[in-house]
Amino acid sequence: RFLSENEPITVAVIGFGYVGSCVAATLADRGFDVVAIDSDPQLIEELSWGYFRIEEAGLPDLVFRTMEAGKLRVTTDFAETAAADVILICVGTPVRDDGSLSSEQLIGACRELRKHLRRGQLVVLKSTVPPGTTREVVLPELERSGLRGGTDFSLAFTPERLAEGTALAELRAFPIVAGGYSEACQRDAVEFWRRGLGVEVIRRDSLEAAEIIKLASNWWIDLNIALANELAKFCAIYGVDVLDVVSAANTIPKGTGNVNILLPSVGVGGSCLTKDPWMVWKSASEHGVDIRTAATGREVNAGMPEYTAQLAIDELVRQGKDPARSVVGVLGLAFKNNTGDLRATPTAATVKALRKAGATVRVYDPLVEAKHVEPMFGIAPSASVEETVRDADCIAVLALHRDFESIDFAALPVAKPCVLLDGRAYYSKERIAELTAAGYSYRGVGRGSAL
Ligand code: NAD
Repeated sequence: RFLSENEPITVAVIGFGYVGSCVAATLADRGFDVVAIDSDPQLIEELSWGYFRIEEAGLPDLVFRTMEAGKLRVTTDFAETAAADVILICVGTPVRDDGSLSSEQLIGACRELRKHLRRGQLVVLKSTVPPGTTREVVLPELERSGLRGGTDFSLAFTPERLAEGTALAELRAFPIVAGGYSEACQRDAVEFWRRGLGVEVIRRDSLEAAEIIKLASNWWIDLNIALANELAKFCAIYGVDVLDVVSAANTIPKGTGNVNILLPSVGVGGSCLTKDPWMVWKSASEHGVDIRTAATGREVNAGMPEYTAQLAIDELVRQGKDPARSVVGVLGLAFKNNTGDLRATPTAATVKALRKAGATVRVYDPLVEAKHVEPMFGIAPSASVEETVRDADCIAVLALHRDFESIDFAALPVAKPCVLLDGRAYYSKERIAELTAAGYSYRGVGRGSAL
């Protein structure tokens, strides 16, 4: 019914942010004609200067390559959706302080889209939403066009499951989940993704199941990290290295795989893990159900930035230094390794706690645009590793980008003895022994016996 095998598919992607740009550029690279529509005119202007604001491995290249090849266009004009066979909605879905969905972007996109909606189109929501949103928010907004979902146009929900830092590879590799408003909608969505991404493994589900599948993954990840973080605190009591415990605990088969405890860290950030568990909690609470693990995981992880800062402060005091007269050089500000994304980064609270203790803090992240640093951290960024750590009493590695893996700590101009704060449970025992020999005293979340 939908598209015959040989017919070309044209795609409109609404929202050219992290997800939208990865999806749009990937589909364009696979030969589809793609138009991306974003409400931010500044973004389109930046593209015209040859600048793309998202720092993701391979993404700016792919965006400009597909634009130059004429397969991808980016515009603010919603009228362009009329010519598309498939429309993918990839706008942001933040939550308010009480955990409820802030649906302005989503409703705004639907209202513009419905002005141009036509028979035979497939609309797929990719943004993460509370269960019921596709059916109860998107469908009625689109049906105000006078067209009926399931008969005039198809409607589906396909969660985006990529993670920043590895987004492009994951987009092509992960099994697709296709939730449909009806069986025919599901079939259309499956057919599109099979051709669109060349992915053969496609799960068919109801709209609500597909919405929950996305939330379940991020709820699990956040809660699992919370477990790792509390395990780290537990290990610290006994001077045990949490990495030894995690690697050994993870060798036991359980359920459908092995025990799989993730790693402790300075905290959890980014635009997804910090909000999606709250979507779970809030949606359930509206139905009178208290989902405690979602809220608890969030609370545990939200406390980690200060806990991590305190490790450095305690070590400075142990060395006889006054934290208020100490210099701390922070390497890595992004919310995780190998991305330039500062959204909800836990490093901001660590820097704040160090400054509250009186320390002079310098910050550096080669992947983060300098103009975003001062508004968030209250400090202008340094220009290099050397400048950041000059005469520092502590180096805090809070995001371990590839660039930082090869740092020769022995050669850095720090004030020894210098604390090395490992916010990512990264350094091996061998590396720690080398660092100790080079005049550093290592502190890491849960790395008791590594000292
Ligand atoms: P983003 O903020 O990077 O991008 C959203 C884009 O939509 C922005 O460019 C914005 O200008 C545009 N926009 C907002 N309202 C619009 C409208 N009415 N019409 C047209 N454009 C509009 O967000 P993102 O990180 O790409 O996330 C998008 C969705 O995907 C969210 O629901 C998020 O939870 C989910 N998600 C994100 C990731 C991730 O790693 N970032 C991974 C999986 C899922």
